[in-house]
Amino acid sequence: MSTDILLIRGAHVMAPEDIGIRDVLIACGRIIAIGDTIRPSGISFDTIDGRGRYLVPGLVDSLVHISGGGGEGGFATRTPPLIANAAFAAGVTTVIGALGTDDVTRNHADLLGTARALRSQGLSAYALTGSYRVPVRTLTGSVRDDLVLIPEFLGVGEVAVADHRGSQPTVAELARIGSDALAGGLLSGKSGTVLIHMGDHATGLAPLIAASSEFAVPIRQWLPTHINRQRRLLDEGVLWARQGGRVDLTTSTTPELIAAGDLPGAVALDVLFSAGIPSTQVSMSSDGQASLPVFDEHGRFKGLEIAPISSLIRDVQSAVRDFRWPLADVLATVTSTPAECWHLPQKGHIRVGADADLLLLDHDSLEITHTIAAGVSRDVFERRAVAQP
Ligand code: ZN
Repeated sequence: MSTDILLIRGAHVMAPEDIGIRDVLIACGRIIAIGDTIRPSGISFDTIDGRGRYLVPGLVDSLVHISGGGGEGGFATRTPPLIANAAFAAGVTTVIGALGTDDVTRNHADLLGTARALRSQGLSAYALTGSYRVPVRTLTGSVRDDLVLIPEFLGVGEVAVADHRGSQPTVAELARIGSDALAGGLLSGKSGTVLIHMGDHATGLAPLIAASSEFAVPIRQWLPTHINRQRRLLDEGVLWARQGGRVDLTTSTTPELIAAGDLPGAVALDVLFSAGIPSTQVSMSSDGQASLPVFDEHGRFKGLEIAPISSLIRDVQSAVRDFRWPLADVLATVTSTPAECWHLPQKGHIRVGADADLLLLDHDSLEITHTIAAGVSRDVFERRAVAQP
């Protein structure tokens, strides 16, 4: 019999910090007890044998184009919306959805509708107001009003900086967006974080540094992403983090992009950790459902493929397996750190009272064996494909 009470027995719990072998009891979508040995009596419950596995928080993905993205090679290159089962198969239980380059045929009403549809399937889906464009396009006419009035909106993004597809915002324009987001966040109990799409122009992070030094916008208001698209930008990210800023790495890439200078997420994480940047200031996101350009052997544009949300867990596995970083530190970049960045205290941790969004990973391969989202075990057959290195 299936119940909504679930006991996970004897797993090695990474919360994301290592709290050892524990039993974890889940009821009504929440974690209700963590202990050495839990044996509920007088109630019926399901059990998952966690022995030989890590129990970790469900992944929090700070950037997914949940309602589809792309379109940068014409209408035929638009990408489809995210499927909830693809997220579960990839271990992602919380997504932050955003528009991208296309805010003409894509809009916030559709983004919110998609987030709500995903929620009805058990995925914790949130969204951002704004898009690449400045002045920022919103639902109600203002960033501040959007954040206060629309529960799913957590912040703004992706606002494009140093990219030919953006609007080349001035420092004052960026500071205005940051201030409105901060005020809207304060009024609604949200972070109001502004996710910045970093392009590859030499401008780099200079406009953000100026916006936070010339105006009263804290450096923590910004979350620059795609910071691993070039070594030069990543090195700027190290300096930015040393000033207290957060950086976000993109895990979706292609061999062609890597040949052009893109650093895979695990490689870039190794650079940041080696430079002493703590996991509390680094997050990774998949940029799922974005379009990735593919070129033929002569370097000619061939078409686009869809950025996989599964790239997130692959880079977690690679950072631990190939670069030998502690699992707790690597996990923090896809659980506790993004949860803190977006002010989602119910997410990103295994603790009593938190939402029951959990993964079981094989102790050796870090392959996902179970995804539990909103307290329900998600039986997802695509999972096998995800875990292949
Ligand atoms: Zn982007």
